[in-house]
Amino acid sequence: MEALVTGGAGFIGSHLASLLLARGNRVTVLDDLSTGRRVNIERLESNDRFEFVRGSAHDAAVTDPLVSRADVVFHLAAVVGVKRVVEDPVRAIESNVAATSCVLAAAARTRTRILLASTSEVYGKHSDLPFEESADIGFGPPTALRWAYACAKALDEWHALAYWQHRGTPATVIRLFNVAGPRQLGDYGMVLPRLVGQALRGEALTVYGDGTQTRTFIHVDDAIRALAACADHQEAVGQIFNIGSDHEVRIIDLAELIRARVGASGPIEFIPFETVYGDRFEDMMRRVPSLAKLKSVIGFEPSHDLASIIDDVIADMRRRQEFVASVSSESEVSVPFVSP
Ligand code: UDP
Repeated sequence: MEALVTGGAGFIGSHLASLLLARGNRVTVLDDLSTGRRVNIERLESNDRFEFVRGSAHDAAVTDPLVSRADVVFHLAAVVGVKRVVEDPVRAIESNVAATSCVLAAAARTRTRILLASTSEVYGKHSDLPFEESADIGFGPPTALRWAYACAKALDEWHALAYWQHRGTPATVIRLFNVAGPRQLGDYGMVLPRLVGQALRGEALTVYGDGTQTRTFIHVDDAIRALAACADHQEAVGQIFNIGSDHEVRIIDLAELIRARVGASGPIEFIPFETVYGDRFEDMMRRVPSLAKLKSVIGFEPSHDLASIIDDVIADMRRRQEFVASVSSESEVSVPFVSP
């Protein structure tokens, strides 16, 4: 089987490419290296079933031939990371929508199986926990740019499911909740590697607000297994699936756990949301997926607990020593809100 992974040099995409190769597939990674990194796929490049193409997913001249020769497309390419979205929201909106549109149009021509990576951000202000895939969604006002990313990804979802319902394109939408693991950078947001990096550098751990907001974290190895399993299941076509963990943790407790597992003694520093995000910021206080559909259709359950995710991130950062050079000043890394 021939798989195309757009955004395959990124954190999740590179792990997925590696899993697909291990399963005997041919894998092409398409990535413009805007946030993806060549080093993430370095180990894969010697495999003769692997090919890397540097280019944009919204460039039809590049995307069309790659999609047409693929049996399955994992569309992960997106502008992610708050820093990037906040610095250039026009580009973030346009390229997320344009890339998905381009990849879907190509998949429609050849009726190629496609999995669209979306995000838990699309649940917006929804507050009935746990979040079920069939739930209504509602965003804040367009003046609060946080919602631009959620809205663009929601449009991508409608687009994919419209292609399925009206053109027969076999699409599945995956809503990724917070994913963490080796190779993830804290530079664009992403609280878990960010706090691990701070702890390893002996800095204060920055907790935004009072730290009572919650998230759930799934190990990247579990997330990619679930993604690949969704591609294998015919019943998943035309459906939306949450992929995440349902173990909810307060950010303050996450910070304390990270500090304990690193063996760090630095303080926890509380930073008001307004200082980091500005006046118009709206954070969601709780975010927990329902995994009932994923379990019943795909038969999947995460296998890593939070402590083992943190330990893997610590070990990886120690090995790569990247945390030493990583961005650490508050002015450079702020306003995190984008998942994955
Ligand atoms: N957060 C934090 N300290 C940081 C970075 C993030 O307290 O240094 C908080 C952030 O306000 C949010 C949660 O951690 O409530 C998760 O942030 P992240 O950017 O990882 O993902 P999100 O789920 O918000 O997209």
